[in-house]
Amino acid sequence: MSASPSANVEPLAGIVGAENVSTALEARIACSRDASGLEGECLAVVWPSHPEHVPAVVEWALQEGVDLVPRGAGTGLCGGATPQRSVVVDLSRLTRIGPLDREGRRIEVEAGVVLGALNRRLAPQGLFLPVIPGSHRAATVGGMIATDAAGLRAVRYGTLRDWVEEVTLVDGLGRVHRLRGDALSSAVGREGVTGFVVKAVLKLASLPTRRTVSLIAFDDEEALLIQRDRWLQDPQLTALEYLNRHAAGALGWEARPHLLVEFDSDRGDIHDPERIAALWRARDGLYPVLARRGHPVIEDPRLEGEALQELLRWLDAEGIPAFGHLGVGIVHPCFRDGDGRIPALYERVAAWGGRVSGEHGIGLKKKGWVDAAFRAEIQQLKEKYDPKGVLNRGKLC
Ligand SMILES: Cc1cc2nc3c(=O)[nH]c(=O)nc-3n(C[C@H](O)[C@H](O)[C@H](O)COP(=O)(O)OP(=O)(O)OC[C@H]3O[C@@H](n4cnc5c(N)ncnc54)[C@H](O)[C@@H]3O)c2cc1C
Repeated sequence: MSASPSANVEPLAGIVGAENVSTALEARIACSRDASGLEGECLAVVWPSHPEHVPAVVEWALQEGVDLVPRGAGTGLCGGATPQRSVVVDLSRLTRIGPLDREGRRIEVEAGVVLGALNRRLAPQGLFLPVIPGSHRAATVGGMIATDAAGLRAVRYGTLRDWVEEVTLVDGLGRVHRLRGDALSSAVGREGVTGFVVKAVLKLASLPTRRTVSLIAFDDEEALLIQRDRWLQDPQLTALEYLNRHAAGALGWEARPHLLVEFDSDRGDIHDPERIAALWRARDGLYPVLARRGHPVIEDPRLEGEALQELLRWLDAEGIPAFGHLGVGIVHPCFRDGDGRIPALYERVAAWGGRVSGEHGIGLKKKGWVDAAFRAEIQQLKEKYDPKGVLNRGKLC
């Protein structure tokens, strides 16, 4: 990273306040990558503390001719928030939570609100935002909307798309859009290439009053998938998480394939809340454990049917630790850096008719794997929302 950035950031201080903009090396290094490890050059970091700052920041970028990269918590796993000689707009200081509409079960929040904090605030009211990625202690609502996050309870609650009622989006010309209904697809899952999500109205679910889990070890993936299909018929199922024998072994569990399943009833075998919490903590910590053990490259293919079975067999035979939200067919194989089998994985998934990214997004990492229809769709959205190309340049396609 060069010691002296080349963007004239002085006017930014006039917009957001001098304390909310930095060209210091430590700030630029901190925002030079996301959790994928893909790194790029950050010219400066700006932290809007009010949604109204964002249109003025975009106008500055248009004048200055630099591109802007939206950033939430930087937990993304595909280089979506990685700058490429860009100014990073870190939205984590937009943390206001509006009054709760208890009857309508909805709440307006700013983009930088962290999911874990929101759910802690809502718990005494018996409500929660039920889309819970493994990164829920850090991920922001804006980042989750931009990636259409899924997660541990996707089998029951779907993805963030199902829980967004309205998004306030600042586009690449600094215009403000309030998107609802079908128009939400211009912002949700678009990884910041159409604009900055600055606020959103979220729908909420009732917190289950009862939760039990079962943890079952199987002899092989075939037996496990048969039981998965049975549990998928159960209306009380809220999570169905998979660990292959290599991943289970890394947690110190018996080295056999496991399913960790949760029900919002007494249906599971484990009822003790502390034991349940400990199991979920272990599950949340699984990726960091695998990363520390030398497997930091996490993938997220999504497949169903025979193809899913083929994938699980291949990962097992290759000795690749894998886990995932098996209820919705998302699997997370974890590789060593530079493992030559990663392109083989993408090729296999594409040939089997699956998606190379089930939840983490495309970003920089997988843009070579998107099809022509997707590319055309993104280009159309770019023409409408970012005709000058200042937002997240070079991402998605
Ligand atoms: C340990 C771990 C576990 C994870 N588990 C899951 C999981 O279970 N399910 C899942 O879906 N993901 C998971 N992830 C990936 C990641 O946490 C999600 O993609 C999350 O939604 C990203 O949120 P963020 O605030 O960190 O966004 P960032 O990483 O900062 O950004 C992600 C993308 O969104 C864009 N963006 C960020 N904020 C905005 C905004 N306000 N407006 C417009 N664009 C914006 C960025 O430019 C980038 O393209 C996991 C990551 C880790 C490290």
